[in-house]
Amino acid sequence: MARKIGSRYTAHQILGRGSAGTVWLGEGPEGPVAIKLLREDLASDQELVGRFVQERTALLGLEHPHVVSVRDLVVDGNDLALVMDLVRGTDLRTRLDRDRRLAPEAAVAIAADIADGLAAAHAAGVVHRDVKPENVLLDMQGPLGPGGSHRALLTDFGVAKLIDTPRRTKATKIIGTPDYLAPEIVEGLPPRASVDIYALATVLYELLAGFTPFGGGHPGAVLRRHVTETVVPLPGIPDELWQLLVQCLAKAPASRLRASELGARLRELLPMLAGMPPLEVDEPDTESAEESDREEQPAGAAPAGERVRRRGAVPLVPGAKPTDSNRDTHTSMRVPAPDELAGGAHGTARAPRTPGAPRPGSARNRAATRRRRVALGAGAVALVAAIGVGAWLTTSGDDDGAPPQDTKNSAPQTP
Ligand code: ADP
Repeated sequence: MARKIGSRYTAHQILGRGSAGTVWLGEGPEGPVAIKLLREDLASDQELVGRFVQERTALLGLEHPHVVSVRDLVVDGNDLALVMDLVRGTDLRTRLDRDRRLAPEAAVAIAADIADGLAAAHAAGVVHRDVKPENVLLDMQGPLGPGGSHRALLTDFGVAKLIDTPRRTKATKIIGTPDYLAPEIVEGLPPRASVDIYALATVLYELLAGFTPFGGGHPGAVLRRHVTETVVPLPGIPDELWQLLVQCLAKAPASRLRASELGARLRELLPMLAGMPPLEVDEPDTESAEESDREEQPAGAAPAGERVRRRGAVPLVPGAKPTDSNRDTHTSMRVPAPDELAGGAHGTARAPRTPGAPRPGSARNRAATRRRRVALGAGAVALVAAIGVGAWLTTSGDDDGAPPQDTKNSAPQTP
């Protein structure tokens, strides 16, 4: 059933549903397009509509082979729609769900594409703020790239900023997965270009490993790990690639590479990675890790067993010993006990697994995780607000629509 969107577009069939609305295959004066029709509750919010119109130039201005361009913005009665380039393919999350891990060459080629897209955005003063596999589309009709990879394009530029204001977040519980959030955001600092680099490095790690470096379990625990833990090396990963990942997952934003340099360095690695099979990485034993996280370890105690691949802790104060497990602050949080987790919080993969329940990181669990990622729910929102992301939201978008760190106006990060 066709549906008119404004005077120039017709939506024909649904391509997919996302957290902010439904994406349709449509037709415009210049041919086929993708039309993202925002959810009714978003479209009827006058303040949000106002912000979309204000940001029109930033949203429409980005043109790059690795960015899904927004062609038009339609505000028509109850409809609020973004008209985008049509990408004939799938998103990277779907690909990961299918393949679990990618061969390093294909993973690096995809990450290099996204780095190039980010470089163009950052040069234009736009920070994406929500880089994750769901926002990467793979063009399956174009020619294949290194390792048989499809051209990757980053989508949803500017949408996170427009929608995720504090009021909006509380009102509708739209909140992204915490797996890709840079530590400075957890600490309440405004998001600059380097948050996109951290998120992209997280995506690349996930493409190689099959899981994110700090994900798993309660959202609060994930956020804490971003700030206090170091990343676990991946077995068999070439050292040059590992060094790049570590640099871009640095806690200090200024230590990360800029997008243009990251893209170039990744492409330099491609010949060396040709023909390499996917890494053989064990799933993290989150069950045992959870146990050892939960049990208060005496200072200097040995890790709780060889099966546990513990991440290293980062001292909160330079030079201090990172063993301050008793402090219950936003950077050193107590991991909730199973009975607290059972009290309705979402994202409990790190709670003891009941027999027959999917193992964290398994295909079954990843499907559940994906659903969970769409809306983490009230418990997560409350927790996130409590530990400081509220501060980020407050600084990144005021209710009056005048964010101090405007994606449009923010200067690209200079490492
Ligand atoms: P989310 O809000 O979760 O990021 P989206 O609303 O952006 O998801 O997209 C939902 C689905 O619609 C995607 O998984 C993708 O398959 C499809 N889609 C989104 N944008 C486009 C596009 N420009 N061209 C083709 N398909 C798209």
